[in-house]
Amino acid sequence: MDELIHQDPELAGYIRQETERQNFNFELIASENFASRATIEAMGTVLTNKYAEGYPGKRYYGGCEFVDKVEELARERAKKLFKADWVNVQPHSGASANAAVYLAFMNPGDTLLGLDLAHGGHLTHGSPVNFSGITYKAEFYGVEKDTGRIDMNKVREKAKEVNPKMISIGASAYPRDFDYQAFRDIADEVGAFLWMDMAHTAGLIAAGQLNDPLMISDVVTTTTHKTLRGPRGGMILVGKDGENKLGVTARKSGRVKNWSEVLDSAVFPGSQGGPLMHVIAAKAVAFGEALKSDFIEYQKQVKRNAKHLAEEFTNHEYDLVSGGTDNHLILVDLRSKGLTGKVAEEALDRAGITVNKNMVPFDTESPFVTSGIRIGTPALTTRGFGEAEFTKVFELIDTVLKNPTDEQNLTAVKVQVKELCTQFPLYDLEQV
Ligand SMILES: *Cc1c(COP(=O)(O)O)cnc(C)c1O
Repeated sequence: MDELIHQDPELAGYIRQETERQNFNFELIASENFASRATIEAMGTVLTNKYAEGYPGKRYYGGCEFVDKVEELARERAKKLFKADWVNVQPHSGASANAAVYLAFMNPGDTLLGLDLAHGGHLTHGSPVNFSGITYKAEFYGVEKDTGRIDMNKVREKAKEVNPKMISIGASAYPRDFDYQAFRDIADEVGAFLWMDMAHTAGLIAAGQLNDPLMISDVVTTTTHKTLRGPRGGMILVGKDGENKLGVTARKSGRVKNWSEVLDSAVFPGSQGGPLMHVIAAKAVAFGEALKSDFIEYQKQVKRNAKHLAEEFTNHEYDLVSGGTDNHLILVDLRSKGLTGKVAEEALDRAGITVNKNMVPFDTESPFVTSGIRIGTPALTTRGFGEAEFTKVFELIDTVLKNPTDEQNLTAVKVQVKELCTQFPLYDLEQV
């Protein structure tokens, strides 16, 4: 970052401060991770200069011979990683990948059946404040009050009642795995497309640590920066490609197209312009890392750490939504402790522990206050934290939550957070 420090010291200063924040705090936001130095390097390259609208071999600009290689490499690695027939690595983000799926398979006004945002779903699955809920008719399934889990019989009832064009699976705050075959059966019964958004869990799925939706869903979307540990971005995959007779583009063209063709057109020119080639290069780096055997070990540890953390919480009389976890995150219901998510998040933040407040199912507080916090293990596991360190993480969280307004208490915790972080170095400040 020598040039940047010289040319724009103010901005460089903010980046260094953020690097220090990441280095010396407990990063427990379930959707975050730490990309490798190589992944970050790829993003800071001249590839950002290149316009490459279109796809490898079929571009609308000259001079694409090298970026074609970059995109092909990213695609081949992603296909291998997820055993998919086809992939599009151009979506700028998870939300952009999802926008392309809607464009491909839904007409405005068509019905989507998705997981309720208040029960762990995502904004792009039909929330009224998002394009998905504005453009399409959104219907929701949720989790059961007593179990915190999705009841597939209820999903079937709802699907028969609302007759959706597409059913979405996937969540931002659901600590359990999904029964994809049960969703497939329901989608087939009502003649709906089946779309899995594995934004949070892609890394665990790639490493075989959760059920695999690729061959069962019609289409799968993901981010590349959560458990997958790549650069900020999105991706669309099709496990088994073939003729798609129902999609919007297929109907309009008067010719039956494959899923892959329909989705390629929905990304470009359907919803994006030029791809971010520097980010696609970084995706290739991260997919290459994910194909190595130590990635499976990493994902196993992510899960072990989450399970261990869940046990620490339940052993100390905290309520967890669904009573535990199958994946990388837990959802703590703080009502029995007399706390709100907002109070907990702010106190933890002052102690150097970063989590996010989160609605729990059937929450009585507003989304700005909430009754819960969401805690994820991917980022600290990347640093090298194992179960022993997560015991300490729990103890420090518990110390904060017992006295959330005691500033001395928070400062004492912050010192211990920094100490543990120092034992597990992250980014070298001299390199950034
Ligand atoms: C994070 C997330 C997204 C959106 O990803 P962005 O890159 O933030 O746009 C979409 N769906 C789910 C389920 C997510 O968790």
